[in-house]
Amino acid sequence: MLDTHSHIYLPKFDEDRDAVNQRALEAGVKGIFMPAIDFDSIPQMEKLHHPEINFYKMAGVHPCEVKEEIPGDLEDELLEFCGKDDFYGVGETGLDYYWSTELVEQQKESFRIHCKVAKQVQKPIIIHNRESTEDMLEMIDQEQDGSLTGIWHCFNGSLEEGRRALDLGLHLGIGGVATFKNAGVDKTVAQLPVEKMVLETDAPYLSPTPKRGKRNEPAFMKFTSQKLADIFGMSLEEIDATTTETAERLFKIPTS
Ligand SMILES: [Zn+2]
Repeated sequence: MLDTHSHIYLPKFDEDRDAVNQRALEAGVKGIFMPAIDFDSIPQMEKLHHPEINFYKMAGVHPCEVKEEIPGDLEDELLEFCGKDDFYGVGETGLDYYWSTELVEQQKESFRIHCKVAKQVQKPIIIHNRESTEDMLEMIDQEQDGSLTGIWHCFNGSLEEGRRALDLGLHLGIGGVATFKNAGVDKTVAQLPVEKMVLETDAPYLSPTPKRGKRNEPAFMKFTSQKLADIFGMSLEEIDATTTETAERLFKIPTS
């Protein structure tokens, strides 16, 4: 399995990172994609090594980290990192109107710059979206010239929004929220094509049931993977194979 969204580099894992990695491996996680919060995330990512787990770096500025003034060199800085062979995606970026709508225009501008860079380097964007779905999809629509790929991370949209995202060329990141009772995400997911889905944890956030409320870690992806297997009436092996293949294709990494 590939965890396509994990902030495993954060200090929250400093104390027991080896054990976390070991559990990931035992759960079948062979690769972990690391979206950045901001540029300070990158040196933290570069410290991670494991003989049996591949760590994949990405660069970006999370919408909640966007400041009143967008740095004039944001595009150049993103290009510098994301253009490198050992960077696999652009993000995380996107829009978040839940915490604050004060800097909506700045968030949009930053998101636009990330999209531009993603098209230039031909790597997927990782989209964070919270209470901003309409604007997010509209912006992807504007930016889509046939070459933009990406993941709607932590997908929790409606069926119609999910279909629109797929029509716009996005993939859906399925995380812990799909296991939550009452969230209804599972019912929506059931009506969308599994071939367009990738697994993710968003560790240390959003732990799946039955670990809800605890610090999330890549090993817990097995609960989300089991949920997807139940939803689609597939075996765990089939879900692992399908989602892994999709992620490998999207991130252009060698097939396992
Ligand atoms: Zn994230």
